[in-house]
Amino acid sequence: MNHERSRALYDRALSVLPGGVNSSVRATMPHPVFVERGDGGHVIDADGNRYVDWVMGYGPLLYGHDLPEPVESAIQSYAAAGPMYGAPTEIEVEHAEFVARHVPSVESIRFVNSGTEATVSAVRLARGYTGRDKVVVMQGGYHGAQESTLVEGTPERRRPSTAGIPEAFAEHTLPIPFNDAEAAAEVFEAYGDEIAAVLVEPILANKGIVAPVDGYHETLRDLCTDHGALLVFDEVITGFRVGGLGCAQSKFGVTPDLTTFGKVIGGGFPVGAIGGRAEVIERFTPSGDVFQSGTFSGHPVTMAAGKASLEYAAEHDVYDHVNRLGRLLREGIAEICAERAPEYTVVGTDSMFKTVFTREGPDDVDACCAGGCRQSPDCARYDYCPKTGADVANAATDRWERVFWQEMKDRGVLLTANQFECQFTSYAHTEADVEETLEAYREVL
Ligand SMILES: *Cc1c(COP(=O)(O)O)cnc(C)c1O
Repeated sequence: MNHERSRALYDRALSVLPGGVNSSVRATMPHPVFVERGDGGHVIDADGNRYVDWVMGYGPLLYGHDLPEPVESAIQSYAAAGPMYGAPTEIEVEHAEFVARHVPSVESIRFVNSGTEATVSAVRLARGYTGRDKVVVMQGGYHGAQESTLVEGTPERRRPSTAGIPEAFAEHTLPIPFNDAEAAAEVFEAYGDEIAAVLVEPILANKGIVAPVDGYHETLRDLCTDHGALLVFDEVITGFRVGGLGCAQSKFGVTPDLTTFGKVIGGGFPVGAIGGRAEVIERFTPSGDVFQSGTFSGHPVTMAAGKASLEYAAEHDVYDHVNRLGRLLREGIAEICAERAPEYTVVGTDSMFKTVFTREGPDDVDACCAGGCRQSPDCARYDYCPKTGADVANAATDRWERVFWQEMKDRGVLLTANQFECQFTSYAHTEADVEETLEAYREVL
């Protein structure tokens, strides 16, 4: 494969963009693949190389790179009418009605412009609503590039996880391990009446993919209710992907007080949203006293793309298709791993998948879940599969980045470049794409 133009573009980019990119995960080694255009489930790079694309924009692209006709024409017509107004439009009301109709916890919703903006606003809202300052987050959880959640460590010893964040933010943020009910009970015992909210991804999806163990979200729900804190599900990545139009909260049967959205809800355009009980959401200005505002919020083109995308999914076999391809991939990869490398764990659900290079595995690989780790205590892999963000961080992460990802790319299969970001199937992908990908896994693993 020739990469001359990608290399030359990266060279130019490095002179004018820090690290040559506008989002850190894109700076893949030795240089990023510059994309020229998409085609269904594929992308074509600047040198004309074609890849099966499982990155899917890191989550937003439920339809891959070819939009269904009604979605395409909604975008075209709203863009042609003039991009935005700074006044309300009918389409944002329609999109809000659609989301409220389908997502169990949502009565009212505020649209914003990114997942980060959604979680920033959710934290401010929870603090304003409860009159408390502290938030509990999961070690290895991700809620975007915001001060209150970029905090690592333990409730006893915590610190900002990046330069540029004052220590004072870490004072108010309590990181606990995911899937550890005891740690959650302890943090509430120690800080119960100071905790405004628990922020949790229903499935850790930015640190490998870690599914919840049985009863974990119910425990968080009960602790929040008992102590007057809000349970916030960050569904920026799982929203309208896991559990179909009801989102992950409907799949797990646990109703949060607030839900943050992003990615799929904007149909491929910049978006975020905070939904929940009307009584809480209405504390946002202008109906309430928690300031929240945005020039581009509820952007008509984004609202049209998001609403047409979800409506199309409601009327077609979109989730059946993406979930079936996800299962075929996870089962196929699990079979390949069983033959060659029992120390790998296949993770994911619905249209999400990833392989974690766990360092150990069970002797009896036949007694394992076939369709991706579901944290079933009956599975032979239960003691080896990741339960927390730390378990994923302890996997052979270099192997993914330096060897596996590169070799898959050389075979025309584009995966997310590190061990932590997950991968997605789309409506545009086909069984042939799955076959081609499994063939590459067979050669590389
Ligand atoms: C992607 C993501 C975010 C951040 O969203 P941006 O649109 O990148 O700001 C927040 N939370 C979760 C769970 C995400 O996956």
